[in-house]
Amino acid sequence: MLIVYRKEKVTGLINQAILSKKSIGLVPTMGSLHKGHLSLIEKANKNNDTVWVSIFINPTQFNSPKDFKKYPKNLEKDIDLIESISDKINVFIPNEKEMYDGMPKLKIYDFKSLDIELEGKYRKNHFNGVATIVSKLLNLFKPNNIYFGEKDYQQTLIIRELVRIEKINVNIIICPTVREKDGLALSSRNNLLSDSEREKSSIIFVSLNYLKKNFNSLKLESIKKSIIKSIQKNKNFKVEYLEIADSTTLQIQKKINSKKSYRAFICVNINDVRLIDNLLLN
Ligand code: AMP
Repeated sequence: MLIVYRKEKVTGLINQAILSKKSIGLVPTMGSLHKGHLSLIEKANKNNDTVWVSIFINPTQFNSPKDFKKYPKNLEKDIDLIESISDKINVFIPNEKEMYDGMPKLKIYDFKSLDIELEGKYRKNHFNGVATIVSKLLNLFKPNNIYFGEKDYQQTLIIRELVRIEKINVNIIICPTVREKDGLALSSRNNLLSDSEREKSSIIFVSLNYLKKNFNSLKLESIKKSIIKSIQKNKNFKVEYLEIADSTTLQIQKKINSKKSYRAFICVNINDVRLIDNLLLN
């Protein structure tokens, strides 16, 4: 297993791989890996000759310095987990200076309607930060395939738009959300919950499923209100948003009246730990 810290070294290895016509798969992560990340890495490992995992906590996608500072870090364990899949996988661990050629700087994109609602609304410039770093990684690794999780559904649409804007030739592979037994979506942030918060947080997935059963109701808004109320009955649980949106445009729907595809999106803050999830409704 190669652990690489410098872009120059990556470029050399990527050029060799391209010369020998090896397919390249890239899995971008912020580390503190769990089975959700590993499902992406396993898929990349099955379908590519060369696999790279990047581990970089990208400062420009955090709008809250507190959130950035407390983001979990677990490098040694991450490397062991990656190695347990295959010791042929390469890992790129740049520091900020290396990744950004100096001070981290945000590039501003026009994502049309895609970053106005949901995460885009509550985390200003989050998706400009994500796109800035993914664009840098795509240009560095020139992958044939890049892997993302459906858990960050809005992010997957942003990446598709980024690739269109920048005319980058890459297959974007979206992998299903991996969940705990009780339905909670795996997230590096789950480690920051207390045992009791962790146990109660299964209500997030329960709520999405309840919405899936009832989203056709004429009383959608009052159903949403009652879900929010029951989540917030738990101490320190605060719902930032619970919305139904068009799966393609991400426009928020107050009423369901067509045969389009819809998704429910939720964000719950538990004692300042921000958890998001989403579910296809129809
Ligand atoms: P992160 O390290 O949070 O930036 O996540 C890296 C990648 O893993 C992103 O494409 C995420 O969508 C994906 N991911 C995170 N959690 C899960 C999960 N529970 N299931 C599937 N993919 C996930």
